[in-house]
Amino acid sequence: MEEKTSKKDIRALTLEQLRDFFVKSGDKAFRGNQVYEWLWQKSAHTFEVMTNISKETRDLLNANFVINHIKVDLMQRSSDGTIKNAVRLHDDLVVESVLIPTKTRTTACVSSQVGCSLDCKFCATARLKRMRNLNPDEIYDQVVAIDNESRLYFDRPLSNIVFMGMGEPLMNYKNVLKAIEKITSPEGLGMSPKRITVSTSGVPRMIKKMADEGVKFNLAVSLHSAIDEIRTSIMPFNAQMNLADLREALQYWYGKTKNRITYEYVVWKGINDAQKDADALVQFCRFAPSKVNLIEYNPIDDGEFQQANDKAIEMYVTTLERRGITVTVRRSRGKDIDAACGQLANKS
Ligand code: SAH
Repeated sequence: MEEKTSKKDIRALTLEQLRDFFVKSGDKAFRGNQVYEWLWQKSAHTFEVMTNISKETRDLLNANFVINHIKVDLMQRSSDGTIKNAVRLHDDLVVESVLIPTKTRTTACVSSQVGCSLDCKFCATARLKRMRNLNPDEIYDQVVAIDNESRLYFDRPLSNIVFMGMGEPLMNYKNVLKAIEKITSPEGLGMSPKRITVSTSGVPRMIKKMADEGVKFNLAVSLHSAIDEIRTSIMPFNAQMNLADLREALQYWYGKTKNRITYEYVVWKGINDAQKDADALVQFCRFAPSKVNLIEYNPIDDGEFQQANDKAIEMYVTTLERRGITVTVRRSRGKDIDAACGQLANKS
């Protein structure tokens, strides 16, 4: 383990602050740009690798700052090609991120918090209490690690990012936004925001805030039921942030962004597998162009929740399609290494 230190995390500094630091130390502001490029574009883990910077300057940086880079502690590969990284943070907490390959794409599924403060009954992460929010650089590092793995194992760069790992991204909004700014900026990875999806269990206040700020990434909402009573029983926070509030916020989002909304939805036996459930879903998402992803349930427990049968899934598909709502049925990836949706719980 590394020695605990009171030195400042250098990546918490903006470019301007870094330039200022050098000016105050009697150097040129331009030195800040060089170091910034090492930190973000080249993902330097130490000051020693910054070879176009003098030894004296590197010593100065070492005396004042640390680079709190993540470490991929364990990388597991699934039989379907999915890779799961156990990521150790500077304070020894661990989060997980996942690389999901398809024929044409590599998607990174990244975490935004250590644990989660929400209490979805069907999700393994909800059983870990929320320890802390991730910093922007810790989110960024997860993406870089997966980009490197994609180049190494699949011969291509990362193409998409989903915030569907551990945590609720809208409960760590500021840092998630900063990370996305870095991922999309030319000084970072230069990725298009259209290739990034933030998934939320539905925090109305934050959805409106995002709409006001004109963000360019995609929004996915984990709905799972369009009937309050049922949604509250499986996602208890719905008692405080109910479907009417969520819908109003989404309507506001659509009005401002004109971006199609994606709903994530698991159909469980005896919980939401009846015709009335599918009808309620149609009613809920009719106000804007939307797409429903029916995701397979990944069991995490003793059988309290069970995936509905194929007939129920077909019923959902027919009901949605008849009303012109796009629907896809998504198979799980990486189940054998506990890397699928809702399975991230630092088990190994
Ligand atoms: N907190 C955010 C992002 C993390 S969850 C959110 O709720 O959207 C990513 C997705 O996995 C969500 O749609 C979530 O509802 C779903 N999920 C959680 N547990 C699951 C499980 N056991 N099986 C399948 N999907 C699950």
